[in-house]
Amino acid sequence: GVGDSGMPETLEEGSILVAHDLAPSDTACLDVHKVSAMLLDKGGKTSHTAILARSLGIPAVVGLQNVTASIQSGDTVLVDGDSGEVTVNPSKDECSAFKERLDAQSRKKGQLSLLKDLPSVTKDGRKVELAANIGGANEIDMVNDAGAEGIGLFRTEFMFIQVTEMLTEEEQFRVYKKVLSELSPRPVVIRTLDAGSDKELPYLNMPKEDNPFLGLRAIRLCLQEKERAFRPQLRALLRASVYGKLRIMFPMIASLQELREAKAELLSVKAELDAERISVSEDLQVGIMVEVPSAAICSDELASECDFFSIGTNDLTQYTLAVDYTMACDRGNAAISYLSDYFYPSVLRLIARTIEEGHKQGIWVGMCGEMAGSPAAIPVLIGMGIDELSMATGAIPQAKAIIRGMDTGKAKEIWERVKGMSSNKEIRAYLDGLVAEQQ
Ligand code: PEP
Ligand code: MG
Repeated sequence: GVGDSGMPETLEEGSILVAHDLAPSDTACLDVHKVSAMLLDKGGKTSHTAILARSLGIPAVVGLQNVTASIQSGDTVLVDGDSGEVTVNPSKDECSAFKERLDAQSRKKGQLSLLKDLPSVTKDGRKVELAANIGGANEIDMVNDAGAEGIGLFRTEFMFIQVTEMLTEEEQFRVYKKVLSELSPRPVVIRTLDAGSDKELPYLNMPKEDNPFLGLRAIRLCLQEKERAFRPQLRALLRASVYGKLRIMFPMIASLQELREAKAELLSVKAELDAERISVSEDLQVGIMVEVPSAAICSDELASECDFFSIGTNDLTQYTLAVDYTMACDRGNAAISYLSDYFYPSVLRLIARTIEEGHKQGIWVGMCGEMAGSPAAIPVLIGMGIDELSMATGAIPQAKAIIRGMDTGKAKEIWERVKGMSSNKEIRAYLDGLVAEQQ
């Protein structure tokens, strides 16, 4: 029943999608009312297909290698997206045990939802802003339901991968205006186009690259494609800025030169709008993703020329440890999957350095990579002094409970202990142990 789009045409409610791989653009089109879960042979936890599934609230288990060979159409399947456990044609007992766990989970969800309107502060009163990662305006209800205090990452490229030609300035303006006005007065961090890598835009006709993760992606692509991509997006963003609290964020900044070039373009677009008598908000911040190791290393210099940092641990981990995160779970690359972990001391040191250097220059430092929503990571990030955490909406209620139960002094002690550890396994075991103690 696969149609021209490559997606099954006859999905019923409660369907579980089993596939060799799904492009982020296919995932973005899934009907969340029909797809209860998805299972893929390929992919890694921080690949964009997995990220999209997480933000749509679809449980997913990826990197299964041969799941397409083990499941037939019509099989009954239990999927636990938290543990990555998949049971094919379960027994009655397995079904009822699973049902009990589902019930317990929904009771816990109910308890956490009581925190929805409470502020995200530690026991001793330190504010840690809790924000949401989104891929489109259709997620605003989920953001509000989760009790998010803002949007810390709007991945605009997800809008661009769902269409067959470049979005116009006007089309983009309407989306940004909607998100900003509906969130107002809460802040919204909108990231400029992070295309390339596993988020291809075929209509840009870019030359094929052997290693697109190290190639022309994100800000590099935008600075190359100023007229087709960067300037129309900047115009749309600046025009929309008057409808809310906009923070513009540039992805994959690797050097001060790139930041300066991107800011120069923004200034030139602003001058163009001024000349057209189109107003732009005075309360606008411009920041960068810190996700390339060189940006973390030079965070002192970069902090003096922008208003905020948001640490992207997905890319920061893959580039620090030199392991492509979409490949780390593939059959041929299972041998390197051990390197795909943000708890390596090298990654933690870069994060701590970025926060420290940002604070020295008086700017706020957030995190929007997957690490930000990890219950094991949150205490150590508070200990390092993080100001904001942005994550998939589904992770927000639990993160709020952790923050509200944490004391800054204790968090600093945790970070001090972690600093003395030399392996990611030791760090993970210690932090997982702390989570288990809380439960
Ligand atoms: C990151 O790299 O951590 C990040 C948030 O950006 P993306 O996952 O979209 O590359
Ligand atoms: Mg990234």
